[in-house]
Amino acid sequence: MQCTLCKVGETNHGLTTVVLHRGDTSLIIKQVPADICTNCGEYYLSESIASRVLHLSEEAVAKGTEVEILRFAA
Ligand SMILES: [Zn+2]
Repeated sequence: MQCTLCKVGETNHGLTTVVLHRGDTSLIIKQVPADICTNCGEYYLSESIASRVLHLSEEAVAKGTEVEILRFAA
C-alpha cells in the first residue's frame, strides 16, 4: 500500500522494532511483522499484531517493568 505519512513511498512486508513508552515503562519489541515504508521507514501494524503489541505493553506495565526488551513471537 502507499504510505499515508510521506505519501511517496510504498510499503513492503518486513520486520521492525516497536518502541513504546507508557508512564514509567519503556518497552522495546523486536522483530515485529509490519508493513514498512521504503521511503520514510514508517511502519504499519495489522490489527492482530497491534493488539498483541498492546497486550505485551499492558503486561510490562502491570509487572512494573521500567525497561523491557522482547522479541515478538510470530
Ligand atoms: Zn513513508
